[in-house]
Amino acid sequence: MSEQIGLLGGSFDPPHLGHLFVAYTAFEELGLTSVRLIPTYRQPLKQGRPVTSAEHRVAMCRLLAAEDPRLAVDPLEVERGGLSYTIDTVRAYRAARPSAELVLLLGEDAAATLPQWREPHAIAAEARLVVVSRGEPGPAIPGSIQVESLASRRIDISSTEIRARVGAGLPIRGFVPGSIAEYIGRHGLYRTT
Ligand code: ATP
Ligand code: MG
Repeated sequence: MSEQIGLLGGSFDPPHLGHLFVAYTAFEELGLTSVRLIPTYRQPLKQGRPVTSAEHRVAMCRLLAAEDPRLAVDPLEVERGGLSYTIDTVRAYRAARPSAELVLLLGEDAAATLPQWREPHAIAAEARLVVVSRGEPGPAIPGSIQVESLASRRIDISSTEIRARVGAGLPIRGFVPGSIAEYIGRHGLYRTT
């Protein structure tokens, strides 16, 4: 059987337990043996907000990956620089592993923006698109892009909320692994004062 590789892209500013549960769902429901966390360098659709340096985001992804031996970090988008387009990443994986099955894992909020991505149909031609929906089947993706929907445990955690909690001086244990909470504290990330 050909190798199956799960790809989970994101800003990971910071990575959190919701991301870990997406990977668990992929392992348990799709039988994947590995999932790569792929931090974006610059997210074309999120250009308004200042993003934490790629160095910190990659380091925190490595801490999340240390939680499970089937998880790994691939910094290829950071190394490529510029705007991070998923089609470029999928093509790089395809070129390096011609016979692998690529499974692009998407949360519902990411999936909803698919029609605005560069060459979404080309992405769908190279990779299986799996939307990890939180409980009930997610909304249809506009624009006739073929996706599968995978029901998952609902984990109501986002990086946005974690940044806001740190900014407000609230604890984030239970949202991120202890190693990441410690990293955020040590480097003073997301502090507003
Ligand atoms: P932000 O709030 O900054 O947008 P985020 O928590 O959505 O951050 P991202 O780095 O944007 O995290 O997400 C990477 C991928 O993980 C996206 O496909 C997103 O939909 C998915 N994702 C993030 N949080 C969850 C969650 N709690 N459950 C399921 N999928 C999630
Ligand atoms: Mg998001």
